[in-house]
Amino acid sequence: MVDIVCLGEILVDMFLAELGRKLSDFTAFQPKPGGAPANVAVAAARLGKSTAFIGKVGEDAFGYNLVQVLKDQGVDTCGVRFDPDARTTLAFIAKPDENTSEYVFYRNPGADLMLRSDELERSLLEGPRALHFGSLSLTGEPIRSTTYQAVKLAAAAGALISFDVNYRPNLWSGPEEAIKQIRIMLPNTNLLKVNEIELELLVGHKDLEKACTTLITNGPELVVVTLGTQGSYYYCASGHGMVPAFKVQAVDATGCGDAFTAGLLSQLVDYENWHSKLFPDKLQEILRYANAVGALTATRVGVINALPNAQKVTEFLAEQ
Ligand code: ADP
Repeated sequence: MVDIVCLGEILVDMFLAELGRKLSDFTAFQPKPGGAPANVAVAAARLGKSTAFIGKVGEDAFGYNLVQVLKDQGVDTCGVRFDPDARTTLAFIAKPDENTSEYVFYRNPGADLMLRSDELERSLLEGPRALHFGSLSLTGEPIRSTTYQAVKLAAAAGALISFDVNYRPNLWSGPEEAIKQIRIMLPNTNLLKVNEIELELLVGHKDLEKACTTLITNGPELVVVTLGTQGSYYYCASGHGMVPAFKVQAVDATGCGDAFTAGLLSQLVDYENWHSKLFPDKLQEILRYANAVGALTATRVGVINALPNAQKVTEFLAEQ
């Protein structure tokens, strides 16, 4: 049985080679494997969990490359399908300054959108500890219906359903449509992960406690808010609290959110009954671990090569 199944986009991130430039000032790009759910699968595998990825790539050089990357990282790829028509999705990314990211997706459609329900690898959904997905799988069909189906099957088999909003404004016709589709998933979600921007999108303000109170009445049993260098915040029925970030020499925050999610999930699925962890003392420890995974990822450039293994996280925590 697989511990964590991640469903959704795997794509090639084309990073603008020069930092501090706008995308429109492009000269050269550096390709890297990406896609948030795929990153989470790799990050959790690095932390010692068994993981699998469900998604679709094009039957092209990029698709073959991405699947090989997953295999090399120890992620089960039996749930990956190849589309003979649609190309592997590409995302062109620039960071004009520390707080801004620009994205242009080549996804009209991209293969990741094209996964159909009848292509789901059912064996992966029969008993994973957790199923994780994000809102890129809700932006269009057929992947949206496929995601509903996968969530239904995994939840019926007792999996923890984890949803990282991971909002990308330019993949939606407008914020209203994004809010609508994200809200539809909340009753089926156990763990909801958002950042401050997504919190404001969903509830209209950034007051952590009030916003999470609202979200939790819509379905999730645990809401976790990532706050960059501030750390993270949890909210569940038995309590809520901030867990401060670790001070590190950060060089590149790309992938920190996915690394954090992998840390969080890998801790939650460690016990047969993850509900038993929904108490402040346990969640403080779990978020401390997830913060460490995020912080360590920030200390190296890139995502996959920056992800720490379990031993590195344990040593880092012991040093603090
Ligand atoms: P996202 O917005 O993608 O969810 P964040 O940038 O908030 O992700 O990062 C996730 C987590 O990683 C944070 O909650 C924090 O614990 C850790 N983290 C990120 N950047 C840093 C940093 N510069 N220093 C220390 N920890 C960091």
